[in-house]
Amino acid sequence: MQKNNTINTKRSKRFATVDKSFCVACGCCIKVCPKNAISIKNGLYADVDLEKCIGCGLCSKECPASVIDIKREVLGGVA
Ligand code: SF4
Ligand code: SF4
Repeated sequence: MQKNNTINTKRSKRFATVDKSFCVACGCCIKVCPKNAISIKNGLYADVDLEKCIGCGLCSKECPASVIDIKREVLGGVA
């Protein structure tokens, strides 16, 4: 008899991504991030520290240029 060893180990992580081409480096996202996960790189664009980001989406709501997306990563793939 074949044993079904399938265990539901699906885990996912949500995180923010910034379209750097259109970021205007206003810093609005930095002010609302509860994890201090965002910094402005070279004075040009926002950069998200994925180790700190919890994918709460506050930055995305705040961004006046609408250049932040929340992505979800499932078991190595992006959903
Ligand atoms: S999704 Fe939340 S934790 Fe992640 S960078 Fe945006 S505000 Fe910070
Ligand atoms: S709020 Fe939007 S436009 Fe402003 S720095 Fe953050 S990502 Fe860039």
